[in-house]
Amino acid sequence: FYVLVTGILFYFLLKKHLIKIRNAEKKARESDQLKTAFLQNISHEIRTPMNGIVGFAGLLKENDLTKDQKEMYLDIITKSSDQLLNVVNDVLDVSLIDSGNVIINKTQFNLNEFLEQIYSVHSTILRKNISLRLNNTLYSSDHIVFSDSVKLGQILDNLISNAIKYTPKGEVELGCETKENKLLFSVKDSGIGIAPEYHEKIFDRFHRAEIETTKTIGGAGLGLAICRGNVNLLGGDIWVESNLGIGSKFYFTIPGDFVVQKPTVEEKADS
Ligand code: ADP
Repeated sequence: FYVLVTGILFYFLLKKHLIKIRNAEKKARESDQLKTAFLQNISHEIRTPMNGIVGFAGLLKENDLTKDQKEMYLDIITKSSDQLLNVVNDVLDVSLIDSGNVIINKTQFNLNEFLEQIYSVHSTILRKNISLRLNNTLYSSDHIVFSDSVKLGQILDNLISNAIKYTPKGEVELGCETKENKLLFSVKDSGIGIAPEYHEKIFDRFHRAEIETTKTIGGAGLGLAICRGNVNLLGGDIWVESNLGIGSKFYFTIPGDFVVQKPTVEEKADS
């Protein structure tokens, strides 16, 4: 009897141990696959603008260029350099967030002015088939917010850039409202959408939704990880609601460190 009980016990212990080993191997394999995909993606993200810079800098050396040609080549070199700088900044931001060395610098700022500025910067660089709308439900009063406006700007820039990048044609809407004493920001698009199994994973670094369209669009899978890191540092949450082929809406909150200033009678009359 004792031999039988020991045997059964041994069998279950061994089975548990084997399952643990198998799970650890699966995790290691997935992590390896992620690293390989990341290296491929980041190489591509670096090589494309580098090719632009090297190629067009070479062409600039030719003697018989018109003024328009020179301007066009310089424009491509500048845009490619910006792209390259963005990739490097993203890698640095991720490593800063990982090491816990991000410094949060909270100041008081006017929410309406802040949103108008974000909106106007993106409006000026829109593709032809995309429109951008600002839906600021708090517009009628001045909300003075106490937060890190630079980080907040980075988060919104990232979400709006993604919304534009993953929307071949349609509308992107930047929204702001208050919810349960918090500020709730949203960026909605009518783009390619995200399948439910990726709704949480995409906020982990290197993760990209594996559909054909994403592969052709390009990216290193760092932007949303940076957004989540920054939102958490500001004391909020970030999430997405999305339907494949219909569009996505990214939401994030920040704590309600704000005061509301009703406009004076003269200000109301002016506007
Ligand atoms: P990247 O865009 O460089 O791949 P991100 O971290 O910004 O990295 O996004 C991770 C993934 O989430 C993207 O690869 C894409 O699959 C998905 N994604 C992000 N934003 C959107 C969006 N607005 N519409 C559809 N998919 C999106």
